[in-house]
Amino acid sequence: MAKRKISSKLFAEAQKYLVGGVNSPVRAFNYVGGDPLLIKRGKTAKVYDYDGKEYIDYVSSWGSLILGHAYPAVIQAIKKAAGAGVSFGTTNSAEIELAGLICKAIPGIDKIRFVNSGTEAVMGVVRLGRAYSGKNKIVKFTHSYHGSADYLLAKAGSGLATLKLPSSAGVPAEFIKNTLVVPFGDRILIERIFKQHGHQIAAVLFEPVGGNYGLIPPDIDFLKYLRAITRKYGALLIADEVITGFRFNFGSFTHTYGIDIDLICLGKIIGGGLPVGAYAGRKEIMDQLAPLGKVYQASTFSGNPIVMQAGLATLGVLQKSRLQYEHTARLTEYLTQRIKREAGLLGIDLKVSSFGSMFSLRLKDKETFSKFYRRLLELGVYFAPSEFEVNFLCFAHTREDIEKTADSVKLALAKLKR
Ligand code: PMP
Repeated sequence: MAKRKISSKLFAEAQKYLVGGVNSPVRAFNYVGGDPLLIKRGKTAKVYDYDGKEYIDYVSSWGSLILGHAYPAVIQAIKKAAGAGVSFGTTNSAEIELAGLICKAIPGIDKIRFVNSGTEAVMGVVRLGRAYSGKNKIVKFTHSYHGSADYLLAKAGSGLATLKLPSSAGVPAEFIKNTLVVPFGDRILIERIFKQHGHQIAAVLFEPVGGNYGLIPPDIDFLKYLRAITRKYGALLIADEVITGFRFNFGSFTHTYGIDIDLICLGKIIGGGLPVGAYAGRKEIMDQLAPLGKVYQASTFSGNPIVMQAGLATLGVLQKSRLQYEHTARLTEYLTQRIKREAGLLGIDLKVSSFGSMFSLRLKDKETFSKFYRRLLELGVYFAPSEFEVNFLCFAHTREDIEKTADSVKLALAKLKR
């Protein structure tokens, strides 16, 4: 690895006071080895480490920056909001406006509750779903990741998959006894589970496009089947669109594909890169939340004015970006096709999975992926540092970035042959 002296020194320092030098496990680059990337700044689709080296970024703050880094309108909105005071803990006008914008963009959603992360959104929605249905069990899918709440870490993807953990230490078995985990697409098992526990199942929770075990392409028929069976047994259908909300067009994946869900979780993009989460649904369900109803959920920072303004500025651009969404999906298609072709020409077993502006790559084993990954980093291409995380294109990626990335992938793959 080329010398990244300042970054290495900083990471050594980080390890003194931060566990593993990070505040979220995947950032430590354990899967690919070597010093992790420490990013000092970003602009458009590029990021720069503390040694000033430039990278084309496909992590996009884990999918939350669809407009690219330091997008002027978003930065301006953040500065303006900050100048008026950073937090009051009362309802603010940006919060009302963003709520209205999201509810109008996603048909079937009447009301929304903002929180500070995707994890919090899913925790809130599960509590609400349980209270509304009067039942306790939740069905989730193997390798799906819904944030780091205890009872959702059973057989989850993302960091747990990267670390090869079935669940986390410190989660008592009783906490996950109401979580039923089923392989995605397994209708026979779902049928059996509903026959056996139907009267106890509050909800089925799913990621419409799997984004936490590499990319798992959507299966619309299966999602429609989930709608039918949940309806039959009086369970709710909850879409975790923390990644997919506003990622493929101005709205939700489930509405676009005609999946009639009861509740939705959002996050990432709707906060313009600032910490955010949200859950939303029909009035009759959402009104069960306190202060109107008996389901308690609260937070000091929910609906923070700076976050809400960053979200508004972002969604304001996305609202007018139909062509840009299409263009970014086409660029992704072009990049993944080129990657496949280069691997094919070299006779390398490389699996590419993609949908819209998201893609993931898998090589024959972890060692091969690490070697490939580290070479790419040297060449200035920053992919997600695990085969289980996905890569994202943003609106700022140019044709030139994509060509450079494909050329770099070709070089990194060729190195595997030597
Ligand atoms: N749900 C999904 C589908 C996610 O991908 C993630 C995180 N990537 C979460 C929930 C949790 O979101 P957060 O990291 O903001 O807590």
